[in-house]
Amino acid sequence: MNQAPTKDTDDTTPDDGRPSRNFIQQIIDTDLTAGKNEGRVHTRFPPEPNGYLHIGHAKSICLNSGLAREYDGKFNLRFDDTNPAKEEQEYVDSIMDDVRWLGGDWEDRLFFASDYFDQLYEWAIQLIRDGKAFVCDLDAEQMREYRGTLTEPGKESPYRDRSVEQNLELLEKMKAGEFPDGSKTLRAKIDMASPNINLRDPVMYRIKRAHHHRTGDKWCIYPSYDYTHGQSDSIEGITHSICTLEFENHRPLYDWFCENLGIHHPQQIEFARLNITYTVMSKRKLLQLVDEQHVDGWDDPRMLTIRGLRRRGYTSESIRAFCERIGVAKFNSTIDMAWLEDAVREHLNERAPRAMGVLRPLKIVLTNVGEDEEIECEAANHPQNPEMGTRKIMLTREIFIEQDDFMEDGPKKFFRLKKGGAVRIRSAGIIECGEIVKNEAGEVTEVHCSFNPDTTALFDGKKVKGTIHWVSAKHAIDAEVRLYDHLFASETPDKTEEGGTFLDNLNPNSLEVVTTAKLEPSLVEAKAGDRFQFERTGYFYVDPVDAIDGKPVFNRTATLRDTWAKVKGK
Ligand code: ATP
Ligand code: MG
Repeated sequence: MNQAPTKDTDDTTPDDGRPSRNFIQQIIDTDLTAGKNEGRVHTRFPPEPNGYLHIGHAKSICLNSGLAREYDGKFNLRFDDTNPAKEEQEYVDSIMDDVRWLGGDWEDRLFFASDYFDQLYEWAIQLIRDGKAFVCDLDAEQMREYRGTLTEPGKESPYRDRSVEQNLELLEKMKAGEFPDGSKTLRAKIDMASPNINLRDPVMYRIKRAHHHRTGDKWCIYPSYDYTHGQSDSIEGITHSICTLEFENHRPLYDWFCENLGIHHPQQIEFARLNITYTVMSKRKLLQLVDEQHVDGWDDPRMLTIRGLRRRGYTSESIRAFCERIGVAKFNSTIDMAWLEDAVREHLNERAPRAMGVLRPLKIVLTNVGEDEEIECEAANHPQNPEMGTRKIMLTREIFIEQDDFMEDGPKKFFRLKKGGAVRIRSAGIIECGEIVKNEAGEVTEVHCSFNPDTTALFDGKKVKGTIHWVSAKHAIDAEVRLYDHLFASETPDKTEEGGTFLDNLNPNSLEVVTTAKLEPSLVEAKAGDRFQFERTGYFYVDPVDAIDGKPVFNRTATLRDTWAKVKGK
């Protein structure tokens, strides 16, 4: 079920030193060798502007734009905007922004299926003239009855034999608004007995009085997605029309339209859609999460929308690396969420400057440091990249450490602070546990320690094993820190008890807002969009929406290690 990245087993390694070829690259290689499409490679990403993009779309964007780049070809962005009821400019704008952010460059080739409405209408007339389309008066329910089932053929519509003249006149009147919504359709005349239900006289046009985000009120008939998609690819000269597996059964229909219209015929190639554990991927469900306020909007950092991932602090590089790593497959599978987290962790590990932040502070009093004393310590901004420099950190008499890093009677293997023990505090020295102060309830309120600036000093004749992070109580700044867990408590949120919905699987603890955090003072200068590694606590992103200058809010992008699952094979 849960899988490590799936690559097709038939990947091949060419002898020219290029990396192994997935099945789509193999098809394109073969086409190029055969001289198909005059040696052109032209792909596209065809979103419907009815929601925000999610990580599944990112896979399609990376795949399509990546192939265009690799073969020195072209990549189009085309909005498949055939359904006026659900589409909005807001979605168009956000999709463009997200595709660009992911590195998809459509240059000057931004298109809308609605730009082709006139052409599609002319083609409908052509099909009627050729006796290949007819106006049908069956209503939606009757049409369902006539359609048949997977095991039984359908029945021909009683309106199927209308004359060409009659059909032309009726279509003209449909377009002119002479019939009520839903009262007639234009259908392709193919084969009601076809084992492929998509070929059973599919609907090409419906009457629907709806305002379209681009064509306004010009049309009251709208082409179906199936009548639009293949021809839009054809008009744009797409050579390889890459889509997800559920469109495999539609391919014969797209082929039928292109062949019967005598127009350029792109090759459709299907690949398995991306599924990830602990998440839902359908736009409809994401919309429901937003509408019913289970999350804080499309850009909630727990959502696997591109907006959400951006606000969580993911980099586009890490998402591209993830998409590259999981490859393309011909069979559906589910990728472990840990792979996505691992990709961002890997990228941020290289580039995020280090800082110290204590999320749940415990006060430590360094008894041998004076009230006003300031001990200057030097900390590396990145342990592996000396070119990222160092910064000065002031140690003072009172510091904070993480509550978890103190355990009064810690066991032998507890290498942090405990009674009678010592621990190294990062970039400063060694502290040795002294008096433990408690309140009336018996809770530890502060720990007195002595400080030794020699980081290599021995304790009890032995090297000090543990190193913990800390901040100066005097200089630390307060900040809100948001920690995230999976939005769903189940690996497979769509699997529910009978009568349940995916919402039953929401994780009630997916967001923890920490208001007690104390951060090192250099972070006061953190700007919206900055990224840091807080040593030992994770990668953090300065929230671009809620941060106010001088009071940043930090979203945890990822923990330092994969605490949820083991990433295998690395
Ligand atoms: P959803 O099922 O989430 O509503 P959709 O397929 O209806 O998505 P579109 O806007 O039609 O959304 O998708 C645009 C492109 O993105 C299509 O080519 C589709 O094949 C691709 N795509 C959508 N979801 C995934 C996914 N999970 N993995 C890979 N590609 C996807
Ligand atoms: Mg779709």
